[in-house]
Amino acid sequence: MIPVQGVQNQTIAVLGLGRSGRATAAALREGGARVIAWDDSAETRAQAEAEGLALADLTRDAGWRDPVDALITSPGIPHLYPQPHPAIAQALRRGVPVDNDIGLFFRSFGAADWAAFDTAPRVICVTGSNGKSTTTALIHHILRETGRPTQMGGNIGTGVLALEPPVDAEVLVLELSSYQTELARALTPDVAVFTNLSPDHLDRHAGMGGYFAAKRRLFAEGGPDRCIIGVDEDEGRYLANQMGQSPQDDRVIRISVEQKLDGFGWSVSSRKGFLAEWRKGRQIASVDLRGITGLPGAHNHQNACAAWAACRSVGLAPRDIEAAFHSFAGLPHRSQTVAEIGGVRWVNDSKATNLDSAQKALGAFENIRWIAGGMGKEGGIAALAPLFPRIRKAYLIGHSARDFALQLSDTPHEVVGTMEEAVARASAESEPGDTVLLAPASASFDQYPNFEKRGEHFTALVQALATGEDTPG
Ligand code: ADP
Repeated sequence: MIPVQGVQNQTIAVLGLGRSGRATAAALREGGARVIAWDDSAETRAQAEAEGLALADLTRDAGWRDPVDALITSPGIPHLYPQPHPAIAQALRRGVPVDNDIGLFFRSFGAADWAAFDTAPRVICVTGSNGKSTTTALIHHILRETGRPTQMGGNIGTGVLALEPPVDAEVLVLELSSYQTELARALTPDVAVFTNLSPDHLDRHAGMGGYFAAKRRLFAEGGPDRCIIGVDEDEGRYLANQMGQSPQDDRVIRISVEQKLDGFGWSVSSRKGFLAEWRKGRQIASVDLRGITGLPGAHNHQNACAAWAACRSVGLAPRDIEAAFHSFAGLPHRSQTVAEIGGVRWVNDSKATNLDSAQKALGAFENIRWIAGGMGKEGGIAALAPLFPRIRKAYLIGHSARDFALQLSDTPHEVVGTMEEAVARASAESEPGDTVLLAPASASFDQYPNFEKRGEHFTALVQALATGEDTPG
């Protein structure tokens, strides 16, 4: 745990008592604060109270009777749009500073005993619309493989304040969502990474401008030493332009999977499956990404470029990074190869809940037997039509199966209803060289509690095929 600094004898209110909220409360108490807490769910409140937290109804005046020095909120709780949560509205009205665990973390990172370190610990933060988790996990994996002390947290895995205090030369890798970057009152990474931008969470940010502004704070607030920026969209190009003094300024490392970037001070790009690092007009590294099982498709090559740049920024050698790419297993439910059976590859991309990520997954493979459907998004899959020629056959499940069938039109397809049936049919019909891809382009809620459970069910069915067991229900 990282005890929060500068809160001794203060009263700090914590809103939202999920895993990260409870970890935050513990780190605040460790730092000497008096903590009062609230959650909208009575069940969660009861659990927190049983763990010794003092409750106060922050949504009403009564909860604010004693002076409160700050309100710390969880990322899932709206702080401004569509409208502030009632407890946050109270804080705003009273002028009580609103912050989150990320702000507390940066305020507390760096302690007196750091003077004894030979190499000060550093923080790499990753944000963007897609690929945050994969990029974060990949950077962490590479650091670990090369023997550097490292921890990973934030929006992935462990909450930031639940991480261990860093050791000499450690590199902390944090995934940050737009909710987290928007609110943090301190945001000072050494290396900041922006993968890409596409519309998401617009209700929480009052449109695309607000969404971009939230992500951009990662660069604007702290002034990172190194800015790694995907420049395949206008927003990324704009941000890179703002962060650098000139095209040659190597404070910015530009990333692209669409263009060759040889005219800049520092860049990493990937085209046709080859990653290239350019520095001051010279190509200094080239890597063939095509055979790397854990990083299939151009979207993962973008993640690889970002991770490469981040690891180069903290001094790793090209050959070590390349070796670690090959041992990266990929994250569960994101273009994850779960089996190769009789020349057929089975891929779990259950995280492809929207069109954008389904499009990337379909673009990464050929001869696809596509398992899709669930709670589809507005407009269905019409926008994926340019990728339909890659599909040998679609096996449609869930609520949107019939709508998807209509939109697939001449592309071979079958409404099979359930995952069991989809896996069984795909297994019976597939031929060597095919890829069976679960990339549903739909939320999972009609048939599963979440996308993880959907991916786990698929994986269990495939593994049963591989071992010839009875298929689990
Ligand atoms: P995030 O943490 O930003 O949601 P993930 O790494 O969890 O990103 O990936 C989410 C979904 O997007 C998955 O379906 C994955 O295959 C896809 N994806 C991964 N990287 C990228 C990328 N660079 N661009 C677009 N889609 C991506």
